[in-house]
Amino acid sequence: MSELRFDNQTVVVTGAGGGLGKAYALFFASRGANVVVNDLGGSFKGEGNSTKAADVVVNEIKAAGGKAVPNYDSVENGERIIDTAIQAFGRIDILLNNAGILRDVSFKNMKDDDWDLIIKVHVKGAYKCARAAWPHFRKQKYGRIINTASAAGLFGSFGQCNYSAAKLSQVGFTETLAKEGYKYNIMANVIAPIAASRMTATVMPPELLENLKPDWVVPLVAVLVHPSNKQETGSIFEVGGGHIAKLRWERAKGALLKTDDTLTPGAILKKWDQVNDFSQPEYPTGPADFMTLLEEAMKMGSNDK
Ligand code: NAD
Repeated sequence: MSELRFDNQTVVVTGAGGGLGKAYALFFASRGANVVVNDLGGSFKGEGNSTKAADVVVNEIKAAGGKAVPNYDSVENGERIIDTAIQAFGRIDILLNNAGILRDVSFKNMKDDDWDLIIKVHVKGAYKCARAAWPHFRKQKYGRIINTASAAGLFGSFGQCNYSAAKLSQVGFTETLAKEGYKYNIMANVIAPIAASRMTATVMPPELLENLKPDWVVPLVAVLVHPSNKQETGSIFEVGGGHIAKLRWERAKGALLKTDDTLTPGAILKKWDQVNDFSQPEYPTGPADFMTLLEEAMKMGSNDK
């Protein structure tokens, strides 16, 4: 099988000065893409800024014969990042929303600033970059987006309620972009990666980190954003250390109750086992799936009245 190439395509990688973003930038440049290496260059807590992080990666790409330009804006100014791509390369094909920071603190001690900054970088930042890329994607009937969630968002994580809220937001955001973008050949997927980086350096043992190279996340992203992917969109993948798996929502068959004055808390408690019974699961993919159930419930209500 020939290798997946990205010649003549422009990839914007946010937070590409280190960790996963750097691995994406080096990979896509090595496969022929023009790369915008965006990085604010601050600390992992979102303090400060510097041009160095992006410059180091751009220089590494150029030294290897690749094409890259730096951008030092915060992702909150997404339009400037996309503009860098247009100015330098005349187009944008792929957006990897990857930039991120942490402000871990227990909920009891959470300050508004810790909450606001995390939401600003992860939620508003991904929105602003995608929003600026969207008209280009629609016009050229081509675009690929990866947004970055986290296991902390999917499952919750002690001391990370701000980060969890921000990261799960990327699931709903991506699934809607996938639905709106499909007819314009815009594919949007979301990953929950795990990789050794400055973010995980202090929370995982070194022997585990050895096996969690950012490089092991990159190939899945390449598959999802390649032009040959014309179907996989609105999907969630966990990826890291050589393990790749798709996740989806599962709904219990559930209980149907008559919609009259017998629908009491006590009636629900009587059917509690059914509410929680996953032996006949369903896998909903959109609000319409719920409407079908609602119609069934309403029919039952009216038949029995
Ligand atoms: P990292 O700290 O190495 O990289 C993040 C990069 O984003 C940094 O270079 C940082 O300077 C940059 N950045 C931060 N705020 C920015 C802003 N406002 N504008 C532009 N750039 C900014 O961390 P990483 O582990 O490589 O994380 C990459 C992404 O993956 C993040 O979104 C993170 O939340 C997510 N993630 C990582 C892991 C993991 O195991 N490493 C797990 C789950 C999710």
